[in-house]
Amino acid sequence: TNYQGVGLIVGVTGIVGNSLAEILPLRDTPGGPWKVYGIARRSQPAWNADNCVEYIQCDVLDPEETSSKLSKLTDVTHIFYVTWANMGSEAENCRVNGDMFRNVLSAVIPNAPNLQHICLQTGRKHYIGPFEAFGKIEPHDPPYHEEMPRLDVENFYHVQEDILFEEVRKKEGLTWSVHRPGIIFGFSPYSMMNAIGTLCVYATICKYEGLPLRFPGTQDTWNGYWDASDADLIAEHHIWAAVDPFAKNEAFNCSNGDVFKWKHLWKVLAEQFGLEFHEPEGQGLSLEKMMKEKGPVWDEIVREKGLVPTKLEEVGQWWFADVILSAGSTLDSMNKSKEHGFLGFRNSKSSFLSWIDKMKAYKLVP
Ligand code: NDP
Repeated sequence: TNYQGVGLIVGVTGIVGNSLAEILPLRDTPGGPWKVYGIARRSQPAWNADNCVEYIQCDVLDPEETSSKLSKLTDVTHIFYVTWANMGSEAENCRVNGDMFRNVLSAVIPNAPNLQHICLQTGRKHYIGPFEAFGKIEPHDPPYHEEMPRLDVENFYHVQEDILFEEVRKKEGLTWSVHRPGIIFGFSPYSMMNAIGTLCVYATICKYEGLPLRFPGTQDTWNGYWDASDADLIAEHHIWAAVDPFAKNEAFNCSNGDVFKWKHLWKVLAEQFGLEFHEPEGQGLSLEKMMKEKGPVWDEIVREKGLVPTKLEEVGQWWFADVILSAGSTLDSMNKSKEHGFLGFRNSKSSFLSWIDKMKAYKLVP
């Protein structure tokens, strides 16, 4: 094949990385036909293996390994950076995520003469601050838009952006884009934050134990207006920015373009698993506490239902679900993307259903 674009997906098994790995190699994808490299630490899982991707195991936190494995990829034209490290404290997040990103860029930029564009995925915490600052600092007033200045708080997104700006200057004509999704609706069982996957695992455990689907969040969460970012839509947004001349050197929000209420999606979730559901209770429950002892139950379910083997701590990110469902709702604006020519959208309810279906189809839940 005579490739037009050569994409390097850093975090290829992640929630957006997996969508990029599926979409980039398709025949009608803009900027294609694409040759695609994909990077992650673990070996390639079966659910990622059907994609036409040259899979490279590499820990990008290791500078020597990254340099030796990525400096060889001299044909790369576009980098899609969709990974991160969760170190617990934001100071550590800044250091480690900065190192990872710099390791990748300093291995690729000097060695890939045709490199044109770098897509960096950050997120809505750009406008509300890092997890550890929730409730402690004044966030911006939603709906969030891209002209809002940085909050005066340590944030690894700022560090990554600054590295990006510094690195692109090293090569004439190299362009960048920053993508800021909200809660991502997607598939990957290797993701560190997979809201739908986590809720499916919770629902499966409720079903197995004959319990109703209690809503762990608060009344405000239940009734508020929310938005989400579909992982395939984010992948399309990355590819748009990679290819379209009007999308260069800008940061863009990326969300579905509609709103939903958890009280409606909760009913959908209950239906998909044949469960009764409960409305919020008082100040909300903690999934982290409720699921603490459920590891052995999950192992039993996996065995009995013939699921793809997973550990509960991998597929149930209870801390993340607790944060989402107890935080107030936040909305962003897609005006800037639209004004620059990206008109993509998703129906959030259909998106929610489709990822649940995919979890079932790949036998991660029954
Ligand atoms: P995921 O956690 O879904 O995926 C991470 C990917 O990177 C996996 O493929 C993982 O595979 C790989 N990876 C992790 N560490 C390394 C490493 N050291 N070297 C090589 N590969 C590595 O990522 P997200 O898409 O969630 O995160 C990207 C950005 O999006 C982050 O800034 C995040 O904050 C932001 N975001 C995420 C949201 C969400 O709901 N998930 C919401 C809004 C923003 P392996 O572990 O095998 O290495």
